[in-house]
Formats: sequence, C-alpha cells, structure tokens
Amino acid sequence: MQMANDVTIIGAGLAGLQCARLLARHGANVLLVDRKNTLDQKIHTTGIFVRRTLVDFDIPDDCLGPPVRHVTLYSPSHRSIELVSDHDEYRIGRMGQLYQRYLQQCLHGGVRWLPHTSYLGHSIDGDKLTVQLSTGAITTRYLIGADGARSRVARDLKLDQNSESIFGVESVYEGVRLDGPPRLLCFIDPKLAPGYIAWIAHDGDETHVGVGGYATQFDPPAALEAFRDSVTDIIDLRNAKQIERRAGYIPVGGILRNIANTHGLLIGDAAGAVSPLTAGGLDPCMRLSALAADVTARYLDTRNAQVLNAYNGNSFRSRFTSRLWARRIASVFQQRPLIEIGCSAMRLPFLNRVARHIFFGRNSFPDVEMNYVRCGSPHCPAAASGPEFWPTTKD
Ligand SMILES: Cc1cc2nc3c(=O)[nH]c(=O)nc-3n(C[C@H](O)[C@H](O)[C@H](O)COP(=O)(O)OP(=O)(O)OC[C@H]3O[C@@H](n4cnc5c(N)ncnc54)[C@H](O)[C@@H]3O)c2cc1C
Repeated sequence: MQMANDVTIIGAGLAGLQCARLLARHGANVLLVDRKNTLDQKIHTTGIFVRRTLVDFDIPDDCLGPPVRHVTLYSPSHRSIELVSDHDEYRIGRMGQLYQRYLQQCLHGGVRWLPHTSYLGHSIDGDKLTVQLSTGAITTRYLIGADGARSRVARDLKLDQNSESIFGVESVYEGVRLDGPPRLLCFIDPKLAPGYIAWIAHDGDETHVGVGGYATQFDPPAALEAFRDSVTDIIDLRNAKQIERRAGYIPVGGILRNIANTHGLLIGDAAGAVSPLTAGGLDPCMRLSALAADVTARYLDTRNAQVLNAYNGNSFRSRFTSRLWARRIASVFQQRPLIEIGCSAMRLPFLNRVARHIFFGRNSFPDVEMNYVRCGSPHCPAAASGPEFWPTTKD
C-alpha cells in the first residue's frame, strides 16, 4: 500500500487538472490519477472557450487559437442567419497543449501524478478511504471524482449520477480553406443531429467538424459522414489533413443535486456541470472545480461536515431551469418544416435577440465568490492571513 494523500482526484481532464492545481496552491497533498498514458490523447472536447471564461481565468494565450466573433446558423435546407458580436466571443483551445501545461503547474505545485492508472473502486474505514487502482491500493482522506460523464466514482460514493446525455463526435483538420473571418457554423438538423446541432468551428488554423445528438436516435459516425457530404458547398476539405478524431458523452440533464459527502465530491461532467442548452462544459469545469478546491481545503482543515453545505448542486440548479426547459421544448419540435419556420423567425428582432443571448450572453455557470484561501498546512502561503469567508454564489 502506498502512502496516504490528503486528496485523490480521479480524472485529469480540465476539471481534475483545475482542481488539482488549486488544491496544491492551498497546500494540500494531492494525487492525480488518469487511465490515459498522456493527456493529449483521446480528448473529449472541441475546446471552444467562451468570453466569460477567457476573462475570468488564466488560460495561457499560446494554448488558444485566434478569436472568433462570427456565428452562422443554418436551417436544415441551409438557409443561413449571421450573428456578429462586437467582442471576441470564443477561442478554440489547443486542448492537448493546455492539459499538459496545467499538468506541469500541478507537478510544480507538488501534485503526484499517476498516468496509465485506472480507478477500480474504494472501501471506507472510519475517516480513511482505501482506493483500489489498477497499479495497487492507496489511502486517502478525500476522493474527488473528475472521471467524466459516466463517473464510476459518483456511483461508488453513492452520489447522484447523470441520467440524460447526448453523444458528440468530431474530426479535427488542418489546412482547410474557408473564406471569411474565423467563425462557428451551427447546423440545426434533427436528422443529422437529433436533440443538438452539427457544427464547423474554424479559427483560421484549426477546423473542427462534428455532430451531436441523443445516442439512441442516431448513428454518430454515419451522421458525421453524412454531415461532411452535405456541406461540400460551404467547406472544402479536399486538401485538408485530418489530425484527430474526438468523441464523448455530454451530460445535459443539468447539474446533479447531490454532489458531495464526507468521503468525496464530484466535479466537471461527473457532477453534470454542463449547460443543458448549449452543452458547454468548459466554463462550468473551471468554476465548479475552483469552488471544490476551496471547499475541500476547508473541510480537510476543519473536518466540519457543514462546510460541505456550500457545495450543493441544488443551489446551482435554479440557474439551469430555463435552459432545461428550453432543451425539453426544443426536443419536442424536431420536425424539419417546423425548424425551417423557427430559423426564418429568428430574423424577427425579438427572436434574433434571443439567439444573440444564447451565443453571446455571459450566463453560464453561476459566479462563485472564492475568497477563502486558508488551510491548516504550514506550506499554504495564506496560512496565517486574514478572515475566513464562505464561498457564496451570486446571480
Ligand atoms: C465532442 C465534444 C465536444 C465538446 N465541445 C465543447 C466545447 O467546445 N466547449 C465547451 O464548453 N464544452 C464542450 N464539450 C463539453 C466539455 O468538453 C466537457 O464538459 C468537459 O471537457 C468535461 O471535462 P471533465 O474534466 O469533467 O471530463 P473529461 O474531459 O471527460 O475527463 C475525464 C477524465 O477522467 C479519466 N477517467 C475516466 N474514468 C477513469 C477511471 N476509471 N480511472 C482513471 N481515469 C478515468 C478520463 O481518461 C479523462 O481523462 C464537448 C464535449 C464533447 C464530448
């Protein structure tokens, strides 16, 4: 059995990496585990970061593509509507590079890293957890599930699990010629993408072509091929080189209610922290993981279970209600003629404002005041300082 850690985090996607590097700054002794060999393989995201995340978090500039301000929405018959923002709204992350950079920051902060290691289960004896990994058993004081949409940690900790998800698959290309400025092209077509959209995300350097939808209602690889064939008049892929294929489940049932207990908690997709309408999960990853790091540090410090009340999915869920309803209503109107009418109606000022709000609005995951930075460790830089604050959400 290996030495005990304060915290063991299963999963080194964006959620696990963000939480690990922040917990290390709190002075916690962290073990980060992932079944992948290296973090630039089998990536689960297009990597489109929204303005709000780019403003609020320290994402290194060289891990981001050029800014995007233009969105084109297409109806099933390819009638289009242009939405242009006055701001740089999106940047496509170079995710392999970003994950490696955050991992370097984790290692620099003292995090222990176990790649190529799967979480298999755990047992609890009083305050101590014994975690079974494919490389052997370790003991830990607290377990964090950052292991994605179909989290095994959530199940084992008897926390809530995602029950509604869509599946996305995309090809990433270099050398695509697409005239005009960098942009996102979103195709609403229930045949190719039932319950979500098909997309082309092009920032001038990299181009992502993908489809997403309810897994039971389509065949993702076949839909991706059909989508590529249907957009030859819009994008020329003949001389492009496919450099990657990405795929994964995306939870769209809203953040789960019960995401923490005295043995562990969930972050990222494992917590269902994804917008049910846009399926954007990167901003929620950054915010919820930051709160999780604060709450975990405080809980380890005090062992007061009330601390965990600040980490309650119910308190965030109200922010997801309108988006959940929008998803439910949209999934009822899946007939192509109705969608054609809906897309044409988006030229009306009111509906155009709604579309701009969805694409350019700054509402994502709730803002969380994160002023608490004290933990018991003598290594913690803020150990001796100031008053303590509870994390609070603001609307
Ligand atoms: C195709 C696609 C495109 C998307 N595009 C966007 C986008 O452009 N913008 C946006 O905001 N959101 C997007 N999303 C959603 C967003 O990417 C996710 O919400 C986010 O990446 C989730 O991060 P995570 O760290 O929670 O999970 P993941 O990135 O899935 O990481 C989970 C990690 O856990 C590891 N793991 C799992 N089980 C185990 C185990 N038993 N043992 C050890 N390790 C394990 C996995 O190897 C993985 O590294 C997209 C999702 C998909 C599928």
